[in-house]
Amino acid sequence: MDCIFCKIIAGEIPATKIYEDNDMIIIKDIEPKAKNHFLCIPKSHFKFLKDMNKEQAAQLIKCFEKIPLLENELGLKKGYRLIINQGDDAGQSVHHLHIHILSGQKMNWQPA
Ligand code: AMP
Ligand code: ZN
Repeated sequence: MDCIFCKIIAGEIPATKIYEDNDMIIIKDIEPKAKNHFLCIPKSHFKFLKDMNKEQAAQLIKCFEKIPLLENELGLKKGYRLIINQGDDAGQSVHHLHIHILSGQKMNWQPA
């Protein structure tokens, strides 16, 4: 499959890995939008929340359980923001669902 995140998961494309287990990989975003910008990528490939099956939903829950446990590695202590872009209006550019993790600074709240 021609998916950049599947290739990172398979080790075919390098990435700065923060954490990995059977369900997910957490890497640094190559174009950071905040002082800290990580991506938590469930290993199963799907694009939209509306398409995920039960196993994929369970994997995504594991991502949400794991992220707050990595507060030192991800710099979460003073607050953080999680974002999942879905579709064109949100600017989703990689068609493999992923959670953006932003931290390390005060953030504005004005997406439009
Ligand atoms: P989205 O626009 O929500 O689909 O997010 C895709 C994110 O993936 C963007 O923030 C990109 O900067 C990031 N990205 C794309 N290619 C890579 C890569 N090879 N390694 C790390 N991050 C990447
Ligand atoms: Zn993929």
